[in-house]
Amino acid sequence: MNTINNDYDPQSMTVDQARAVISRHLKPVDSTMRVPVRTALNRFLAEDVLSPIDVPAHVNSAMDGYAVRFADLAAVGETELTTSATVLAGDAPPPPLAPGQAVRIMTGAAIPENADTVVMQEQTRREGDRVWIQPGQHNGQHVRQAGEDLHKGATALRRGKRLRAAELGLIASLGIGEVSVFRPLRVAFFSTGDELASIGQPLAEGQIYDSNRYTLHGMLTALGFDCFDLGVVRDHPVAIENAFEEASRMADVVITSGGVSVGEADFIKPLLARMGEVVFWKIAIKPGRPLAYGHLGPCHFFGLPGNPVAVMVTFYAFVRDALLTLAGANPLPISPRWVLRTTTPLKKAPGRTEFQRGIVSQDAQGEWTVRSTGNQGSGILRSMTEANCFIVLPQDRGSVEAGDEVEVQLFEGLV
Ligand code: AMP
Ligand code: MG
Repeated sequence: MNTINNDYDPQSMTVDQARAVISRHLKPVDSTMRVPVRTALNRFLAEDVLSPIDVPAHVNSAMDGYAVRFADLAAVGETELTTSATVLAGDAPPPPLAPGQAVRIMTGAAIPENADTVVMQEQTRREGDRVWIQPGQHNGQHVRQAGEDLHKGATALRRGKRLRAAELGLIASLGIGEVSVFRPLRVAFFSTGDELASIGQPLAEGQIYDSNRYTLHGMLTALGFDCFDLGVVRDHPVAIENAFEEASRMADVVITSGGVSVGEADFIKPLLARMGEVVFWKIAIKPGRPLAYGHLGPCHFFGLPGNPVAVMVTFYAFVRDALLTLAGANPLPISPRWVLRTTTPLKKAPGRTEFQRGIVSQDAQGEWTVRSTGNQGSGILRSMTEANCFIVLPQDRGSVEAGDEVEVQLFEGLV
């Protein structure tokens, strides 16, 4: 007998096709708000930030040392100069430097007129009001020019930029206290399933605790969105219809988990078709083949599968970037993929893009490699907690041998 060892489904969309279809439906939220700089963390700029000043505002020293006139320095041998004043950061600029003079200067202090070069302290020798400068200095060294970071009127940050620590600091360095950002995206979600118990309830026979609402809460909150947890909804068309209505009144995006396959209690797709619009629901991805994207009135709708790992994989593969676009991100934050050798074999059939869970680590020789977390069952949420990356295996690839190269996408970004 011939067994076909593949996973192709002619009705499925590829991951890239599905992402492209979703992205055609997305426009950023249209309302914006002015917020204090600190509150703007993780938000997206709704307008360009222009610099109202030169940064730095004045010519200043990049070193502790002496400000000199380069023309005074001898081409060979030491140069002797006279010196008296010291300028500290924050002092008013000292008087112009006369020929043959040096002024002792600290990092960040304003450079006097006529001085063009700073000599670092370690290359000088001082006795009373005289200082000797070692040879080999370069014209203009260790001087920060006014406006060298940003000129007055220049665009410091563009609309759509995600505001992280560096951006908050940059805005503050311009003396700007408030910025205009897109209002936070509102996302409502609920779980479906008669088998689901919530924390605090005893587990009846056949029940499991609902974990998807907690993962969704974590993923959405970490991205800076406002989220509304509507609890567990029973596998009953009226209950789901009511939840759809409530969710779509309060949010820009509605996310559900469970009930999108073709089982008897899977009501999401037919209800979505009746109440809104189904754009697609079958994707060549593992885990997470059934996924609904569509609309409920003005809301975007994502119906994620029920299995806990599939929820996370489909969220990061499709939903995250869509939500960031709706929240105003432009460009989207990148999540780079790196090519590493796997030290464990990876089982796979061609036909679907797989997001396997992996652990990137450095071996004794200093090489970074990846290994599998083990059992890749889509209900095994522990695999996500042990992993620090997805191993992304393209649709047409089959099983992978130990030692082969694979693409990995790290969970953590540094900044
Ligand atoms: P479904 O897509 O509704 O058929 O669910 C697929 C699998 O995921 C089933 O084993 C469900 O019990 C499980 N599941 C569905 N929703 C949740 C949830 N919120 N938390 C944990 N497991 C779930
Ligand atoms: Mg279900």
